[in-house]
Amino acid sequence: MSEALALADLNRLQEKDLELDRIREEQEQVPDDLRSTRKEWKSLEDKLAGLQDQLHEVQHDYRQNDLELKDLTAKQSKAKESQKNATSAKEQTQFENIIQQLAGLISELEDVILPMLGEIERLEGEVAAVKEAMARTRPRLDELEAANQARVDGLEAAYQAKWTERSRMAELLPQDLVQEYQTIRKARKGVGLARMVLASAGHRCGACNVQLPTHVAQRVHQGNVVVRCPSCGRILWTGSA
Ligand SMILES: [Zn+2]
Repeated sequence: MSEALALADLNRLQEKDLELDRIREEQEQVPDDLRSTRKEWKSLEDKLAGLQDQLHEVQHDYRQNDLELKDLTAKQSKAKESQKNATSAKEQTQFENIIQQLAGLISELEDVILPMLGEIERLEGEVAAVKEAMARTRPRLDELEAANQARVDGLEAAYQAKWTERSRMAELLPQDLVQEYQTIRKARKGVGLARMVLASAGHRCGACNVQLPTHVAQRVHQGNVVVRCPSCGRILWTGSA
């Protein structure tokens, strides 16, 4: 097998490699409707978490204030009981003062607690609404995820079939040439072999577009050895079999 012929075959291998690259890229591309539905789901999850945090905070405050209210109410009942058993008018007045004082505190606390109950109710309503929205979104998200998985799997089957073809092609080429090409391809955006193109003054590398020195172009035309672009390092090929 002459070098020129091997480079034409290497070019066919590269075309196959680029097809494989495109399949991988396509697999990574998430469809717009799935992307937006994932985003919607994430924002609902975040919203729910935020609301639940707020709700827990208000519920905690409510419980503490409610305990205090129960404590004050118990003290007031006890004072009323003592007032009944008071033996003097002076004692009665003392208990009356305590009862009034406690009544003031109870009323203040009730003013704090009532809005909390309203807030709890409002937050519970919002939590329920977000959960409903999630329940509505979930089937659509699952459906889109499943469709996307099927799409990715289909591409994977195509990839594997092409990869088998590619491996057969690679086996027929000189192995050191394939190795060299693969190393360059990895470092150079997937392109290891570049066509040499005719320019107004001499030749250029078809990949990096640099002007090639005449002796380099001549060696490429001779086709006896592998010649690499002095600028990008890719293997140069005349472009003809
Ligand atoms: Zn180049």
